[in-house]
Amino acid sequence: MNAAIEHDTQERIDSEAPRLNGMVFSSAGGKRGLPLERYFAQEGVDPLSQAFDGKIAVHPGVGGGAIPSDEVEGRLEVLLDAPRSGDSVAYIHVPFCETRCLYCGFYNRGYSREESARYVDALLQELRLWEKRAAQRQGPVHAVYFGGGTPTALEAGDLERLLKAVRVHLPLANDCEITVEGRLYHFGPEKMEACLAGGANRFSLGVQSFDTNIRQTMGRLASREEVFRRLERLKSYNQAAVIVDLIFGFPMQSMEVWLDDIAAACSAELDGMDCYQLNVYGQTPLGKAIREGKLPPAADIPLQSAMFAAGVEALRNAFYRRLSLTHWARTSRERNLYNLKVKGGAHCLAFGPGAGGNIAGWLYLNRSDYRTWRELVLAGRKPVMTLVRPDSHFYVFRAVAAALEQGWLDLADLEKKHGIVVRPALEPLLEQWERAGLVERRGDVLELTLAGQFWQVNLSQLMQDFLKRALDEADK
Ligand code: SF4
Repeated sequence: MNAAIEHDTQERIDSEAPRLNGMVFSSAGGKRGLPLERYFAQEGVDPLSQAFDGKIAVHPGVGGGAIPSDEVEGRLEVLLDAPRSGDSVAYIHVPFCETRCLYCGFYNRGYSREESARYVDALLQELRLWEKRAAQRQGPVHAVYFGGGTPTALEAGDLERLLKAVRVHLPLANDCEITVEGRLYHFGPEKMEACLAGGANRFSLGVQSFDTNIRQTMGRLASREEVFRRLERLKSYNQAAVIVDLIFGFPMQSMEVWLDDIAAACSAELDGMDCYQLNVYGQTPLGKAIREGKLPPAADIPLQSAMFAAGVEALRNAFYRRLSLTHWARTSRERNLYNLKVKGGAHCLAFGPGAGGNIAGWLYLNRSDYRTWRELVLAGRKPVMTLVRPDSHFYVFRAVAAALEQGWLDLADLEKKHGIVVRPALEPLLEQWERAGLVERRGDVLELTLAGQFWQVNLSQLMQDFLKRALDEADK
C-alpha cells in the first residue's frame, strides 16, 4: 500500500539497500576519510528547494553485516531463548495485490481468491513456530501491523481468523494498536466487519489522491465518490482509527489538486492522515510511462518542496497534531504506534515472505520467494534467509532516526542514554546545517526547520553516517 514510501518491500530484498517494515538492512555509511564537506548542505540558496542536489529515497539507517548463512540457525537459537524487554511490535506481511499501482516499486504478486485461505493457513503455521520460545512468548507486543501488498484483499473469513490467531499466538499488550493496511477497493462491509470482529483497531488506507483521474491513471480503481462512501461506512462502526495515506508529486497533480486532496481528507473527518512524497523508481510502470512520454513528469524538487510546505500549513491551519513529519492526527484515537516504535529500534516479530524482523537489534529477513517461504513454513522451519549482526551503536542510530523523523533531537539526552559523547564531533556539521537554514538549535536540542523537515531523510542519513565514523574512531 504505502510501498512506494514506507512499511514494506519485496523485490529489493536481494538488491540495493534493502529494507523491510521501515528497517534498513545494509550499511549506508562506512566510507572512511571523506572530507567533512561531504555532509554539508548548500548555502546561500533557498534551503527548502535547493539544500541538496537530490533526495535520498531509502529510509535512513546504518546496519551491521549479515552473518554467514550456516551460522544463522545457531545464532537464532540463542536469541530466541531470551525474553524481549522494552518496546515490541509485530509485522504480518500479505504479499498480494489485486492490481499493480503504476508507481509501486514493491509490487510482489497478483491476488487470487483461492490463495487467500492457503496463505492464511501458512501464516498461522508460521505464527506457531516460535510460539513457545521466550523471544516470542515473553514481553508485551505493543503494536501489530498487517502490511503488504494489500491485506484487505484477503477474504473476510481469512482476515478474521488471522486477526484472531494473532491474539492467541502473540502476547499483545492491553493497549496494543492493531493496524490493517489496505485499499478501499473491494473493501466492503463484510470485510470491514470481519476485521473489527478480529480485533483490528486501526485502518491505514491508501487513498493517495481523491482526484478520480489521477487515482485511476495510477491504477487505483475506486472513484472519489466511492472512496468517500467506503470511508463513511468504516467510520460509522466507531470502533477503530481510520487513517488515509496521501501522496504529493504525481504527474498531473498541480498544487491546486494537492490542496484539494488535503481538504477532501479533512472534510471526511478521519482520525488522521499521512502525507508522503512520491518517489518515482525507474523500473516501475510509472517510471517507464514518463520515460516514454506517455505521462507527464512527476513534480520536480521545487514543486515537491512547495507542496510539502503547503501541506504542513494546511494541516496546521486545520489543527491536526503532528505525530511525526509525515503522520498527522485529528483525534486522540490515532497514535501511529507501529511506525514510531519500529523506527526507534523496537523488537519486531515478523511473519510472511520477505518480512523483516528485529530481535534485540539483530535484523532478520524471511525468504522472499513465496513458494520457498511456504514450503519451509509447512515443513516446520522458520524461513529466515538473512540475519544481520547489529552495529555496536545500533540503538544510537535508531534513536537518531526516530527523533529526526519527529523533527527534533535532544543531543544531551542521546549522550546520556547511550553513554557516548558526540556533541564536539557533531559541532561543525550542525553549525553548517544551521547556516544553511536546515536546523535551529535550542541549547542541546536540534530542531529541523521547515526546509530541514523536507530534507529529513538526507539529514538523518548523513548524521548517522557521520556518527558512525566518529563513534568508530572513538572506539579504536
Ligand atoms: S496496493 Fe499498489 S502501492 Fe500497495 S503494494 Fe500493491 S501495487 Fe504497491
